[in-house]
Parts: sequence; C-alpha cells; structure tokens
Amino acid sequence: MQIQPLTKWIDYDKQQGPLVIAGPCSAESLDQLLITGQSLKKSGQVSMLRAGVWKPRTRPNCFEGLGPDALPWLDHLRQVTGLPICVEVGSPGHVEAALSAKIDVLWIGARTTTNPFLVQDIANSLKGVDIPVMVKNPINPQLALWLGALERMEQAGITKLAAIHRGFSLFDGGPLRNPPLWRIPIELKRLIPKLPIICDPSHICGSRTKIEEICQQALDLGMDGLMIESHHNPDQALSDRNQQLTPAKLNSMLKRLITKREYTDDQQFDSKLEDLRNKIDHLDREIIELLHRRMEVVSKIGDAKIKKRVTVLQLHRLEDLMRKRREIADQVGLNPDFASELYTLIHEESVRVQTGLAHTPTVQ
Ligand code: PEP
Ligand code: MN
Repeated sequence: MQIQPLTKWIDYDKQQGPLVIAGPCSAESLDQLLITGQSLKKSGQVSMLRAGVWKPRTRPNCFEGLGPDALPWLDHLRQVTGLPICVEVGSPGHVEAALSAKIDVLWIGARTTTNPFLVQDIANSLKGVDIPVMVKNPINPQLALWLGALERMEQAGITKLAAIHRGFSLFDGGPLRNPPLWRIPIELKRLIPKLPIICDPSHICGSRTKIEEICQQALDLGMDGLMIESHHNPDQALSDRNQQLTPAKLNSMLKRLITKREYTDDQQFDSKLEDLRNKIDHLDREIIELLHRRMEVVSKIGDAKIKKRVTVLQLHRLEDLMRKRREIADQVGLNPDFASELYTLIHEESVRVQTGLAHTPTVQ
C-alpha cells in the first residue's frame, strides 16, 4: 500500500509524543465548539480537532447530529484555532457536504466500516480527491473488514490513510463499552507497517474512568496517535456524555502519559536487550522441542485408541487436564487464563494429530 506518514499531512512534532486529536463527540453549537476548541488549542498538546456532525446511533430517537448546519461552525473553528478539523462521513452525500465545507480530514465510523457497499460508495465519491481518511475498525472483531475498507480507500487513490482502533462491540464487554483486542491492530500493523494507527480510548471505555489506562496501553504498544472526546461541559453533552473529558482534565491526563519510542541509540541498553532476547530464543527452542516430544506421545495415544476403538475426544480427561494446567500455572505464578488459552490450542493440535485431520489455519 502506498501510504504517507502522518507528519506529511498533519503539522505535529513526532518527537514530542503521539498525535493527539480531540474535540466533542458531536458538534452542538458554535459556542460549545469555540469554548472546547480554544481550550484544547491553548493546551498546546492537541494537533487536530474532531466533532461529529452526522452521528450514527445504534437506537433511534437519540441525538443524531445537526447535519450540514454545523459545518460552517467547523470552518469558523478552524479559522479561530488554526487547527485542522476532522469529521465522520457515512455516505457520499456526507463526503460532498464535508468537502464543500473544506473539512481537512474525514473519518469512517465503526458502523460504516462494517458495510462494504457503503465503504465502496464513499471510496467512489473520493476518487481524485486528495484528502486524508482515517478508518475506524468495524464494530465486530474482524480484521478482514477493517483491511477491506482501507484497501477500498487506497484503490480510490487515497494515500493519506490512518486506522483508528476504537475497540469491538462484544456481547459481554465487561466494564468497557468496546473492549480493545490489541492483537487485531497489532496484526494490522504487521501487515501494513507504514499505516499509522490511532487509538480512540473514549469509545473503548464508554466512561471517563479508564481512559488514561487505555491511552497508556496504546502508547506502550507504539500506537501513533490518540483520538479523545472532549467537551467543555460533559454532563450536558448531547451524546456520549459519560466518556467525554473537559479540556482541562484531558490536558492534565496527557501530561501524565509516558511516551515511548520503538528504538533508542543507547548501546548499553541495546546489548542488555539482546542478551535477554537470546535467552528467550533459547527458551523458545526448548518449548518447541518439548511440544514436538509431547505430540509424539499424543500420536502413540492416538494409535492405542484406534486399536481399542476409543474416541479421540474424552471430555472428562480434557476437563481434568485444563484444571490441572491452570493449577500448575497458578503455582508457578503464570496467568491461569493464559494457560487455558495455550492448552486449548495445544489440545486442538493433539486432536488433529490423533484424527489425522489436515491443519486448517484460522482466518481473521
Ligand atoms: C464517534 O467517534 O463519535 C463515533 C460515533 O465513533 P464510532 O464509530 O467509533 O462508534
Ligand atoms: Mn462519540
């Protein structure tokens, strides 16, 4: 994919930390935009402002945004703050209106990314237009849909592209509104290393409490930016009021975050890291050799079962094995949930070895 780095389309100093995009969930009034936007600008930590004009709501009768009436306010906000403005678009009509209002950056929302017809219509409406586009992950945890939307943009000629991780809608997300599944954006980064990935902790959390923790996790993973909702009076916000931070709170939180870099030029640190990595390499070789030996034993068990006409799957043995592996993990100080996940995979492979089934790779 031909992708331009963030610094080519947003004026920010990468050495100072991640790109920060902030602003209200929804544009509600010119006053609200100016009060919030000017405080964010004053903090000196925000490089782009956001505000939703068309709000995709899961249920009807919620505030659905003010539509094109709010676009002139955003133009005014840009002039007053000097910061670029980004807006969500969900149809070619939105694109047309946003382009004629001189919006600087567009983003595709999570619900839209889920729908390839709509994403293609939007991509078609962007052909020949040089505007940056940020694509949020789809609401369901499917990497292919996210990739597909990015590819449709790229095929329309968009080179100023970024992805936004805003978590996934799960049936039971626990305390988070849309829990992050970091391995999905990590896999996206592995597939397209040049693609900037921005984390949206506001929609991940759904409330103010864990936003800082999620921001720090995103920075620890080397994400390129943060998109955070901010409202001068969150309790009165017309949408997502529980998750918006005042500009002052956002500012102090940003100051507490510890920024990270992928590499250093400290040779002592590098050689220490290399020593530790060598240790890991040796341990991993041992683990793989042990797993191989384990599978040889499994294969003997399989032969014995065939002779006795005993089923490969014996549920009580599986339950017993899982329980004991969790216990051992707990005793040695390893996360028992990790042991369960690992042994689910090992057990799957054991079943495959015993039944002689071909290996079927999991497709995202
Ligand atoms: C938003 O950014 O306000 C929004 C609606 O986000 P998402 O598409 O992630 O739900
Ligand atoms: Mn929102």
